Amino acid sequence: MSEPRRKTRQREAILHVLEHAKRPLRVPEILELAQQDVPKLGVATVYRTVSRLQEEELIQAVELPGENPCYELRGGGHRHYFRCNICERVFTIRACPGDLEKLLPPGFKLEDHEIVLYGRCVNCA
Ligand SMILES: [Zn+2]
Ligand SMILES: [Zn+2]
Repeated sequence: MSEPRRKTRQREAILHVLEHAKRPLRVPEILELAQQDVPKLGVATVYRTVSRLQEEELIQAVELPGENPCYELRGGGHRHYFRCNICERVFTIRACPGDLEKLLPPGFKLEDHEIVLYGRCVNCA
């Protein structure tokens, strides 16, 4: 296979994995799933492709404190994350408690929030 063609195939496999994932994925998870399509795919290619897809604003990084980033498709609106303490997988939470302004001292103004929930996923509970 020619070089440009091989690159396209790798990129498509990685994008396909992210499009069909129901949760944000770390690079080793992307690698494992994309290798089902492209067995010779290497981890360096996944890192490079993920960073290119980020530059192109097709995907975004999910940065949880003290962890390697996960990646998901961009868009999809306001969301939060759940991290399993056992399998360390990250899940998207669509719900939001809202009304967090009431937690602030008087006179403070809330501009944004991020919430990470920790616990055990359905497989590990
Ligand atoms: Zn789990
Ligand atoms: Zn929220």
